[in-house]
This record gives sequence, structure tokens and C-alpha cells, in this order.
Amino acid sequence: MSKDAKRVVVITGGSRGIGRAIALRMAGADTEIYFNYSGRDSRDAEETVKLIEDAGGSASHARVDVASRQDVQDFFNKVVDECGRVDVLVNNAGITRDGLLVRMKEEDWCRVLDINLKGAFHCIQTVAKTMMKQRSGRIINMASVVGVMGNPGQANYVASKAGLIGLTKTAAKELAPRGITVNAVAPGFIETSMTVDLPDKAREAMLAQIPMKRTGQPEDVAEVVAFLASEKASYITGQVIHVNGGMYM
Ligand code: NAP
Repeated sequence: MSKDAKRVVVITGGSRGIGRAIALRMAGADTEIYFNYSGRDSRDAEETVKLIEDAGGSASHARVDVASRQDVQDFFNKVVDECGRVDVLVNNAGITRDGLLVRMKEEDWCRVLDINLKGAFHCIQTVAKTMMKQRSGRIINMASVVGVMGNPGQANYVASKAGLIGLTKTAAKELAPRGITVNAVAPGFIETSMTVDLPDKAREAMLAQIPMKRTGQPEDVAEVVAFLASEKASYITGQVIHVNGGMYM
């Protein structure tokens, strides 16, 4: 099947963790996956492509800093040149730079906001032009449970995720008349490299807040993203879907 006949899915931060699980869940013979990553290590991205190809799908990856408008535009230009369309955008790329509010360095505040929130703005603004012409599209933003609950030590991260929820609702209202849905998924405590280094005390405190008494897996989140990207979710927009074992109700 040629690339321009396939469903085109773009995922930011697809080299590992939740982004990789989304890429794997959405891949298939009729889908072209494009994902990016910050370039920490290209082996993770290559491993994601291999896993997709082993399952019968195809994927391309690129090193992109979503905080850079130029990087994002170059990345989407390539996708549109090759495929002529973008059906799904998943804004998943995200980082943490934790610290107590009173001691937080300005550079840590800015870098987290630049990647987690401004990065999503760059991608939505760029892809919206293509989706508006198509009069169809799905945009899914990766928020977080802490974006609605707050979390000590994560003022920058929490602000970025709360901002992403506001961005989701506004984009949903602006783009709905053009056949584009925009939703957010808010994971709780999911086992990835983002959470693996949490000190035991912090992990225990987190688990104590989860009624299901266990952490989630990247696949739990990927399943919800795949649903929101599907035809079955065509009347859902502007929503925040929580995947957190009951941590926030
Ligand atoms: P992760 O394992 O640390 O993976 C983060 C991904 O984002 C990697 O692919 C990374 O690329 C990419 N990335 C980082 N900075 C980037 C940039 N400037 N431009 C493009 N890509 C960039 O994280 P995760 O746990 O899977 O988290 C994925 C998303 O879910 C994030 O938005 C996170 O905030 C959110 N989330 C996670 C949890 C959780 O418990 N894990 C809970 C709630 C929300 P490299 O491989 O090159 O570094």
C-alpha cells in the first residue's frame, strides 16, 4: 500500500515509554507512523521502528525538538510531502525538571513549559492547516493527573499540563466546525523511564493515593489514545480522559 493511501499518524516523543506504546498500538498495514524524539539516544527510536516492522507496520522517525518552531515545521513538511495528509496527531513529548517552587530555577521552569506546552502549540498550529483543508483530523494531547490535582515539587510540570488542558478545550472549540476533534488523556502513575527513578518514599506516597493499589502500564494509556483516534470517537471533543486507577475521580 502506498504511503498516500494510508492513515497517517504522527506521535511526538515516540522513541520510548507511552509514546512507543501508542506507536505500537496504532501501527498496522494500513497506517503510516511518523514519530519524533529529542535525540537522547537514537537506539530507542530504532528499537521502536523494529518493533513496529516486526508486527507488520511501518514507521519513520526524526530527531526533533518540539520546542523549536523550525524543527516542528520541517518535520511536518516532510510528512505532508510524503503522504499528502495527517490524520492523527498525538502530542506526547514531555519532560520533568522537578524542584520545590521556592527554589525552582527559571531555566527549569522555561524548558518544561517550552517542551510540554509550547511544543504542543507548535504541533497543533502546524498540523491544523493540513487538517482544516482535509476537513478531518484527530488531535490527542498527553496531559497528566497532576495537571488537575497539583503536585508538590512539580510546579513547572503541573502548570504545563494544566495549560495543555486549557489548550485542548480551546483548540476543540475552534477546530470542531472543520471536523477535527481535540482531546486530552491524563495518565496517573505509569511505569516508564519518567517514573522509574522515583525514590521509594515518593513511589509509596503515590501508590497510597491509588485505589487500585498498582501503577499503570504504557499500554493502558495507548488503548485510550487509539480509541480517541478512531471513528468510534467521532462525537467526543474537548474532553480529558483519565487513566489513573482511580487516583483522581
Ligand atoms: P519518557 O519515557 O521520558 O519519554 C519521553 C519521550 O519524549 C521520549 O520519546 C523523548 O525523546 C521525548 N522528548 C523529550 N523531549 C523532547 C523534545 N524536546 N522534542 C521531542 N521529543 C521529546 O516519558 P513517558 O513517561 O513515556 O511520558 C510521555 C508523556 O506522558 C509525557 O508528556 C508525560 O508528561 C506524560 N505522562 C507520563 C506519566 C507517567 O507516569 N509516566 C504520567 C502522566 C503523564 P528521547 O528518547 O530522545 O529523550
